[in-house]
Amino acid sequence: MHKFGSLLLAVLLLGLGGCEPPASNTQNASESPNVALTADSQTIEWRLATSWPKNFTGLGMAPERFANLVDEMSNGRLKITVYGAGELMPAFAVFDGVSQGKVQMAHAASFYWKGKAPAAQFFSSIPFGMTAQEMNGWLHYGGGMALWEEVYRPFGIIPLAGGNTGMQMGGWFNKPINTIGDFKGLKIRMPGLGGEVLKRVGAVPVNMAGREIYNALQTGSIDAAEWVGPVNDLAFGLHKVAKFYYYPGWHEPGSNMEFLINKAAFESLPADLKAIVKVAARAINQDMLDEYTSRNVLALEILIRDEGVVLKAFPPVVLSELERISSQVIEEQANKDPLMRTVHDAYRTYERGVRQFHKISEDAYSQHRQR
Ligand code: CA
Repeated sequence: MHKFGSLLLAVLLLGLGGCEPPASNTQNASESPNVALTADSQTIEWRLATSWPKNFTGLGMAPERFANLVDEMSNGRLKITVYGAGELMPAFAVFDGVSQGKVQMAHAASFYWKGKAPAAQFFSSIPFGMTAQEMNGWLHYGGGMALWEEVYRPFGIIPLAGGNTGMQMGGWFNKPINTIGDFKGLKIRMPGLGGEVLKRVGAVPVNMAGREIYNALQTGSIDAAEWVGPVNDLAFGLHKVAKFYYYPGWHEPGSNMEFLINKAAFESLPADLKAIVKVAARAINQDMLDEYTSRNVLALEILIRDEGVVLKAFPPVVLSELERISSQVIEEQANKDPLMRTVHDAYRTYERGVRQFHKISEDAYSQHRQR
């Protein structure tokens, strides 16, 4: 973990006019350090495939900004071209794409890969799991990254955290949810573990790409849907086809995104470019959360003030029941896969500790602000 500090230092030094050029360039360094960094160095070209439409708000901007940052930080020595979903390969083929070396990198979310590695789900978001702040603590200072690396090692992939949406919204509904029984028969767009939980209370979870949600709600082929939060939901116009906007997003309390790197490609990089890739990813990881936080505020204002959206909270009794079932579903899955069990136990141990601390810090302060 303190490695990050030295990486950051190394990159800062490079950024400050190339004070520490690679050993092979030291001869020229005294004359013109900036030129020396690039003159003798070959340009490396990488391709990065994403699971998002090209330049998609929030999620899709992270890989674009990452590529720009790496270009600037490396003085143009590492050029990364970003491809949207479907340009090189379908959205959900990017994991195999990186694993097989068709592309050097991808940007996606780890819960997509539960069929290949059930433990991967813990590195995006689990129902009633950790928040963005807690996830970042676990990953970078609580042992989470080492476990994530272990989960992806058999695939020849190195993971890095790639941004967080923060707390998502509970979704769009056309009838109110007053009791757990109101989920019965409800056709709802809800992927992953959240969908599995809703199935247990009689709902019919459906998975579909974000772009299909508007039409599905409009034609009535689904009754309700979750997507992300104010900024992405507003962009898709979901408020035009559903009455109630529920909170909180119990199913995704802080969804962490990921950069996937082909291990062989990463290991072929010189040490400074390795550091640049890691530090740029770390910067973009924080950047996404900052952007979502700010833009969600404005988007929510528009939804309420201009679009007349009705905000509704899930009743506490409904949330408690969903939480009970969530632990059950996750426990059951962990019992079927030894590595998922290992990651589950580590996640829960960290979560217990951080909840204790947040009870007397973040949570206590939030309660005070709600008075
Ligand atoms: Ca979501």
